[in-house]
Amino acid sequence: MSTVDADVEIAGDDPVPVLDLEVTVARQALVGDITVRRMLPLRQRRSVGPWCFIDHYGPQDVDGTTGMLVPPHPHIGLQTVTWLVAGNVLHRDSLGSEQMIRPGQLNLMTAGAGIAHAEESPEQPDPVLHGVQLWVALPEASRRVAPAFEHHAELPDAAVPGFHTTVFMGELAGSQSPATAFSPIVGAELSAAGGAATSSVPLRPDYEHVVFVVTGRADVDGAVLAPGQLLYLPTGRQRASMSAAAGSSLMLLGGEPLREPLLMWWNFVARTPEEIEAATASWREGGFGEVGGYEGEPMPAPDLDVARLRRPRS
Ligand code: MN
Repeated sequence: MSTVDADVEIAGDDPVPVLDLEVTVARQALVGDITVRRMLPLRQRRSVGPWCFIDHYGPQDVDGTTGMLVPPHPHIGLQTVTWLVAGNVLHRDSLGSEQMIRPGQLNLMTAGAGIAHAEESPEQPDPVLHGVQLWVALPEASRRVAPAFEHHAELPDAAVPGFHTTVFMGELAGSQSPATAFSPIVGAELSAAGGAATSSVPLRPDYEHVVFVVTGRADVDGAVLAPGQLLYLPTGRQRASMSAAAGSSLMLLGGEPLREPLLMWWNFVARTPEEIEAATASWREGGFGEVGGYEGEPMPAPDLDVARLRRPRS
């Protein structure tokens, strides 16, 4: 689900100090019928590596509801990373892609210069929906690439003792995802589905990372985490110690710090207010193309206050 992304509101409160670790708390947001825990961006932290948006939703019973229903909307300057823990979602985009996604698979959409997509629960959805919606900011050199869509049904497992670890972006513990990436990155799910797990997970010290719990409870470097809490691990770390109760699962996201000032508004990741203004005008004029097969109206862009975008951010 794209954040339907309202005004890319800032997640969370001030960090809670836990053993000198930075743990922030998600802001609850409503996306259609779905309640989401928005964990990134933070006021003090707009990105972690290239990751610039983290929503976690569910598990939610979607039986008898519209479930996920995100009408066609545009993106520029980013990749959307869709990962499900339970349920199924149908993706359609302005390139003509149509793809159902299920748990353990990756839908990766590179917006680049511009794309529109819709995401919705199928007519007969699986009864429970649970997943994460992530954005990767494209670096300056790649942010205007041609749009593209990839579905990866097969992803590598990484050798992390105790956990079943799926690498969906970048590389972890010697396992490399086949998904297209434009800057050094890692994205993985570590599951203790087979029983309680403890492991020392290798990290790249030139990466910064975040860890959050999708299901259950976990202890990461002494921070006890529940869903909705985001642990930040700065660069310079070789490993993270992770323990998870049986049935729990965690997400590990990271990468080389982006070191580029992002300007995020609605569904756009840009650098200047003028780019946001141009993308908004283009969407209103139909410049992103049609999402074939979607019945219903596309999402209108919210009112754009360019003067507000021009003001320095606190
Ligand atoms: Mn979207």
